[in-house]
Amino acid sequence: MPNGKPAGIRCIHLDEHQLCRLFGKSNRPAVCGDFQADTEVCGDNADQAAILLAEWERLTAP
Ligand code: SF4
Repeated sequence: MPNGKPAGIRCIHLDEHQLCRLFGKSNRPAVCGDFQADTEVCGDNADQAAILLAEWERLTAP
C-alpha cells in the first residue's frame, strides 16, 4: 500500500484465505518480514488474533 496500511484497514495483499500474496517475494514490506508472531499479539488462533489486533489498533490510535 503506497502510504502504508492504515489501522483498521484490511491489507490489499491478503487473499481470500487470509494469506499474504507477497509472502516470499522481494516486494513484501520489510516490517512484515521482520514481524515475529507472538501470542500476546496473535493469540492462539485467527479469531483471537483479529480481536487482539483490533485492541492494539484501538490502544495505539493517534
Ligand atoms: S504480511 Fe504485510 S503485505 Fe502481507 S498481507 Fe500482511 S500486512 Fe499485507
